[in-house]
Amino acid sequence: MDHLPIFITLRGRCCVVVGGGEIAARKIGLLCKAHAMVTIVAPELCPALAEHRQQGLVDWIAARFEPHHLDGATLAIAATDDEAVNRAVSAAAQTRNIPVNIVDQPALCTFVFPSIIDRSPIVVAVSSGGAAPVLSRMLRSRLETMIPAAYGRLAELAGAFREQVKQRLGSMQQRRIFWENIFEGPIAEQMLAGREDAAKRALQRALDNAADAGARGEVYLVGGGPGDPDLLTFRALRLMQKADVVVYDALVSEGVMDLVRRDAERIYVGKQRANHALPQEDINALLVRLALDGRRVLRLKGGDPFIFGRGGEEIETLAEHGIPFQVVPGISAANGVASYAGIPLTHRDYAQSVLFATGHLRDNSIDLDWEALARPRQTVVIYMGLTGLAIICRKLIEQGLPRDWPAAVIQQGTTRHQRVMTGTLENLAQKVEAAGFKAPTLTIVGEVVKLRDKLAWFDPQDGDQPPLLL
Ligand code: SAH
Repeated sequence: MDHLPIFITLRGRCCVVVGGGEIAARKIGLLCKAHAMVTIVAPELCPALAEHRQQGLVDWIAARFEPHHLDGATLAIAATDDEAVNRAVSAAAQTRNIPVNIVDQPALCTFVFPSIIDRSPIVVAVSSGGAAPVLSRMLRSRLETMIPAAYGRLAELAGAFREQVKQRLGSMQQRRIFWENIFEGPIAEQMLAGREDAAKRALQRALDNAADAGARGEVYLVGGGPGDPDLLTFRALRLMQKADVVVYDALVSEGVMDLVRRDAERIYVGKQRANHALPQEDINALLVRLALDGRRVLRLKGGDPFIFGRGGEEIETLAEHGIPFQVVPGISAANGVASYAGIPLTHRDYAQSVLFATGHLRDNSIDLDWEALARPRQTVVIYMGLTGLAIICRKLIEQGLPRDWPAAVIQQGTTRHQRVMTGTLENLAQKVEAAGFKAPTLTIVGEVVKLRDKLAWFDPQDGDQPPLLL
């Protein structure tokens, strides 16, 4: 970061602007908005500035710039087309330790003007540090459309209640939850619709209720999808931004974790390299404890929480303790990974049904309904590590599927580490081992795998792919 954004108080302070043209006038407009006392140093003034002066909004020193003009100034700006004057202003300001901006000459500046969205008291500033002003202006336009004009009044309303909320809601957490509910709920809508008195009354009622109710936590059981953060649902993202604490495991990708509210506490409950994951009962108990502490708990899981995710068990415990919760589905590995591998799970010619199974290797065998798995005209998706792959392929052949029946293994699907290996029941396990695939991997068995030759569209190893933000 080359510049630290700060918001400076200029009310009643002297700011010197060297230059009397239109560009200077624009900067002076901003300074006046911030209630600065502006002194212009310029031999002549453009009509707009002359008018300003007549109205008594600015002072004018009708002279060429001299360093002593900056004595006592809080800020200095030069907007002239005279290179020597610009340099002189920059040097004089820096000698006096006065922050200085020379329009369009970043090398002479000690501060830069950002692009501004003014919804006072809310002010948003965007800057590229002078590198790409057009880009920061574009970003500003985008942000403009996201921040309703009435946000300023909403912030004023909040400001008027701030002290009272502080007194009546004891903990910082309670206050944060209170304000987030207000800003996301009907009271904010009322403000935005211009019904300010009604909003004020509703805010007072909400505060009275919150003060009576005390702290109360809740749990969001959220599916984080297979890896690519773009595959999150809107609701998942909203709750990820709202949570005070996140409990997550190994399958949640880094890109997804990056979208969790920054100051939320993070608790990892997945497998460490050497030891085991936290036992399920301990996770269930942890969620209960956090919620009873009044916290908003995000239980974030890879894929979908209700597909081989043990999400059901977790919320059963919550229900037993009367803790409010909600469940947000995610894109499961099966459909996410299949899409990114170009393998449709069903197809009119090849598969009329699809079966999801998970196989845990125990004593070198896997307990699955092999007869149900080895049916033609269906696709089988197997969630599990690679260890049982050879056994699964052998069992399916024994159960009557042809040796050359198509199958694929996909590593870390939907992410930039995605790799896909296709083969047959006879050779797939060997090919995957030779290629050194890493967890997590998903296995897809069925004739639909043949379609990949035609339909593959996402191959992050391929230089032609657009870069992915993963
Ligand atoms: N609830 C999760 C599944 C949990 S079981 C879901 O709905 O996706 C864990 C298994 O999911 C892994 O062993 C692996 O087989 C599969 N898996 C999850 N993410 C994957 C990914 N990005 N690529 C390949 N397989 C994945």
